[in-house]
Amino acid sequence: MIINNERDPNYNEKLTNISKALTEWQGPIVIVAHVDPDGDALGSTLALKRALDSVGKNTKLLMDVPRYLDFLTNEGEISDAMETLEPNTLLAILDVSERGRVWGVSQEGIDSAAFVVNIDHHGTNDRFGDLACVSPDKAATCQMIKDMIDSSDIAWTKEIATPCLTGILTDTGNMRFANTDSSVLIAVAGLLEQGVEYAELTDRLQWRHPDYYRVLGKVMSTVDFPLNGLVATVEMTKAMKDDLGPIADDSSDYVGQIRYAEGTHIAIFFQEREDKIKASVRSRGDVSAQAVCVALGGGGHKPAAGVSFTGISFEEAKAKVLAEAKKELERHNLI
Ligand code: 5GP
Ligand code: MN
Repeated sequence: MIINNERDPNYNEKLTNISKALTEWQGPIVIVAHVDPDGDALGSTLALKRALDSVGKNTKLLMDVPRYLDFLTNEGEISDAMETLEPNTLLAILDVSERGRVWGVSQEGIDSAAFVVNIDHHGTNDRFGDLACVSPDKAATCQMIKDMIDSSDIAWTKEIATPCLTGILTDTGNMRFANTDSSVLIAVAGLLEQGVEYAELTDRLQWRHPDYYRVLGKVMSTVDFPLNGLVATVEMTKAMKDDLGPIADDSSDYVGQIRYAEGTHIAIFFQEREDKIKASVRSRGDVSAQAVCVALGGGGHKPAAGVSFTGISFEEAKAKVLAEAKKELERHNLI
């Protein structure tokens, strides 16, 4: 797995080429993002779909939209996963660090696409596709979509700007994380000028089903501070979920609740799911969540990364992540 967190040296040129490929494409355009979609995955794909639809393109956006983001979509805008792609399909893959993390189209499906475009800001992206623009200096894929639409002939509307702003807000923690530079604030200002209802959007993005808070209570009861208190962890096991019965909420940003524990450098949320065990890792400063996850086969950004395991127990998975967290803390002479 590569880690290249540098700006794409041909950023503007590549975005222009991608924009041309999309707007000149005569066949179907299928737009996809990563598994477990977040605000940037939906925001970037939905903004792109609306932009391309406005210039008469034939697009489909494939996603299993989490319930807390569903308010952004209109009836009929989102399609289910596709078994096969139609002939002459351009596949646009957004916010996906590696081919294996695409949702909605199989690996054979990706191979069958007539043309593949890869727009992303993950340093662990392997730059796959016929045209790839990967720029980890960008806070969000939505920021890249903003730049691309700005440089095209497509006219901004509130309907394009709203999802586009969403991904910038969610990937920067509402303009608070270290990836918030002046270019982010300028992009946000530009999107607000298109009429986005800012207070309403930021409020709505925080809404969660009451079940979220029921789960939160259980999850927070597991909080622990291993490795001399330098790490904060919480967990959700299958047994905890079974105890609660069916849950109507599908958001799971529980790691966001513990990342501010004083004295900690790394926060981890361990989740035991039906099909896999997932760790969501966050870090601050020079400590890298990305390094921890990449060492275990996962990926992401320096301050926010993830990794999944199959075929090992929950306890084994936890031990593996904590061992890597320890190594990362040692690299920074914190332990
Ligand atoms: P989260 O923990 O919120 O699911 O993910 C944090 C970041 O890490 C996101 O940018 C996400 O795309 C990335 N990420 C999460 N899990 C994995 C994984 O298993 N592999 C890779 N390559 N990236 C991941
Ligand atoms: Mn993103």
